[in-house]
This record gives sequence, C-alpha cells and structure tokens, in this order.
Amino acid sequence: MIPFSKLSFWERSVYTEGIDFAIIGAGIVGMSTALHLKKRFPFAKIVILERGYLPTGASTKNAGFTCFGSPTELRDDLSSMPEDVVWDTVEMRFNGLQELLSLIDPSKISYEPCGSWDLIRQDEELIPDSFLHYLNEKLARITGQNKVYSIDQRKLEHSKFAGFKAAYQNHLEGAIHTGKLIHELYKSCIHRDIHVIFDIEVSSFEDQTEEVVLFTAHGELKTAKLLVCTNAFASQFLDDVLPARAQVLVTKPISNLAVEGTFHVDGGYYYFRNIGDRLLLGGGRNLDFEGETTTRFEVSSLIQDNLKRMLKENILPSTPFEVDYAWSGIMAVGSEKKPIIQKTNKNIAFGVRMGGMGVAIGASVGKQLSKLIV
Ligand SMILES: Cc1cc2nc3c(=O)[nH]c(=O)nc-3n(C[C@H](O)[C@H](O)[C@H](O)COP(=O)(O)OP(=O)(O)OC[C@H]3O[C@@H](n4cnc5c(N)ncnc54)[C@H](O)[C@@H]3O)c2cc1C
Repeated sequence: MIPFSKLSFWERSVYTEGIDFAIIGAGIVGMSTALHLKKRFPFAKIVILERGYLPTGASTKNAGFTCFGSPTELRDDLSSMPEDVVWDTVEMRFNGLQELLSLIDPSKISYEPCGSWDLIRQDEELIPDSFLHYLNEKLARITGQNKVYSIDQRKLEHSKFAGFKAAYQNHLEGAIHTGKLIHELYKSCIHRDIHVIFDIEVSSFEDQTEEVVLFTAHGELKTAKLLVCTNAFASQFLDDVLPARAQVLVTKPISNLAVEGTFHVDGGYYYFRNIGDRLLLGGGRNLDFEGETTTRFEVSSLIQDNLKRMLKENILPSTPFEVDYAWSGIMAVGSEKKPIIQKTNKNIAFGVRMGGMGVAIGASVGKQLSKLIV
C-alpha cells in the first residue's frame, strides 16, 4: 500500500491535491451528489472516496424497484405517522424517481414501467373502496394522473399464485437493473471528470475552518467541502442512524415463468419481481428485526428458508425452481422514515438514512445536498 505522501507529482496533482468537494461513498446518493455539484460548478475538482472495490452498501444490492408506496404500506404508514408526513414522503419518492430518470438515460438501466401489484393474503383484510378512493385523490395531486391504484384480480389468475385473494395495481411503478444504474452513474461521473477512487476508507475527519482533513489508512487528504453519503455506515459520525439488513434471493431461469412485473406483500415487508425468466424475492426482515440490525453482509437460514417457503407455497406453487443467488444489502433507518439531509457546519454536510427508499429519492437527495453545501 503506497501512502498518499509517496505518490508522484502527476498522481497528486490529478487525484489528491486541490480538492474542492470530497464525497465519501459511491452509492446512488454519493454519485448523484457529485453529478449535481458538477452541473453547478463545472470547474470544481470533485473526488468520491469509496471503501469497497465496488460500492458496498445498498445501491448495488437492492431489488431494483422504482416504487413510491403500495396501498398496504401507505395504510401502515398512515397508522403510525402524521398524514402530511406520509404524503410528503410519497411526493419526495415520486419526484425523486423523475429526477433519477432525467439524470440517467432510462433505456441504459433497463427501466421497465411494468407496474406493481400489492397482494392481499387470504386471511388479510381487503383495502376498502373508500381508502382506495382516498389514495387515488392524494396521488392525483402528486402525479397528475387519475386512478393510480386499482383492483386487478386478473393478475392473480394469470400469475398462478396461491394464498392471495386480491391484487391492487399501481400502474406508475416499475423496475430497473440495479447494477446498470450504478454503472451508468459511475460512467457519467468519469465522463464529467469526477474522480472515483476505490478502496479508500475514511476513518474520521476534522473541520479546520478553511478546509476539512480526512483520515484514511493511506494518509490524510484535504478538501474545501465534505459530503458524507455513507448511509447505514454513517452511525460512526452521526446519531439516529441504524443499519437494517435486507436479504434477497434469485432463482435459476424458469421456463414459462408466469410472473411478470413487481409485487409487494405484507405492507412491503416482502417484494418480488421477474428478472427476465428468473424470479427475485426479498424481505422477511420483520422475522428478526434484532438480528437484521447489523452491517454484516451475510444471509441467515431463518430468513432464506422463509423466502424459499414463500416461493414454494405462494409465488411458484406449481412450478419447480432452484435458488441460484442469495445476498444481503445494508439499508439505514432511524426514528423517522425520512432521510437526514443536514449541514453540520460550514464545510460538512450529510445525506444519509435512505431507508428502503434510496432508489427513489437518492438522486433528489443528491440535488438537495449539492445546494445545501454552498
Ligand atoms: C434488498 C434491498 C431492497 C431495497 N429495495 C428498495 C426499493 O424497492 N426502492 C428503493 O427506493 N430503495 C430500496 N432499497 C434501498 C436503497 O437501495 C438504498 O436506500 C440506497 O441504495 C442507498 O444509497 P446510498 O448511496 O445512500 O447508500 P449505499 O448504497 O449504502 O452507499 C454508501 C457507500 O458508502 C461507502 N462507505 C461507507 N462508509 C465508508 C467510509 N468510511 N469510507 C468510504 N466509503 C464508505 C459504502 O461502501 C457504500 O458504497 C433497498 C435496499 C436493499 C438492500
């Protein structure tokens, strides 16, 4: 490992000296922040420092849903949060998705406006018509579209599920390829002369009035402004940020897969979709909140077995399948279901705690952060 102090004149002049904006974390938020800063300050030197050889948090590990709220999720939120906060969050998610799709060419990230379905189990209460009407009125104000949600029983029959009695469609939600999104953001950064340096973990930083000093295993770096976009890993720097692990599996290709689109179950605690002829299923954090409050990128048999049972009993009851991939990603939660977008002093700002919403809100959080820091 060569310390920064032993780098050549050439290396230092390009990468480590004269930094105007340093960003910690190369997830959706960190890279969106860099792109927005570059739009505002075309000549600024922007350096993103990422501890992993790839971004290593949630942005490359999620399920690739472009979602802003299913009826059962919104019903649960409205029972535990003030009404205006719930609708502000939905609006932030909807607008954030528009921001993301304007920042990155949708065709390059396999964006599919395929719709989503919220599935109701046999023993669950149906969504009352009056509540669906209320949701549609609220959503019309945010999206400009009528009847965002509607009951769609044909989807249940067509998908050959078992154990569900109703499906509510949201025709404005969709899916992306998560890996392509992060790669496109990375390509945009490089194209705009934003440096992304991997394998550098920032252990701490210190504000020194006119600059911020970052401490790493390779030595110190100085920057005029610092933006911390480390999401679940920000608890080392900030209160009220807790890690929330989420586990996922993907099957081997299935011939004649009848499932098409994105689906939510149990207020969003489970989610599944097709990726071509494979099926992705995630969720089950509610089975072990304590055990899943961790930053360890592992999977547990408790949750993976539960996901496989759900595949066998509910999602693919008449179709044989084999699991091909299983992984986990680390989200960030706290006492409120909203991100922390905060300047802690003149030169340092945080954009963290995206919950299960960072695909939706990440690009607009980056925009807000780029304005907040200067
Ligand atoms: C399984 C799963 C499903 C999800 N489903 C959805 C969904 O349907 N819709 C939705 O909107 N969102 C969803 N999310 C959430 C979404 O993926 C996250 O909110 C979003 O990716 C967070 O982006 P971020 O850039 O804030 O954080 P991250 O992607 O976690 O990026 C933070 C980066 O900081 C780096 N880092 C951390 N500490 C340091 C340090 N000290 N020095 C240097 N680098 C550091 C990490 O390596 C990481 O790359 C899901 C997440 C998971 C895991």
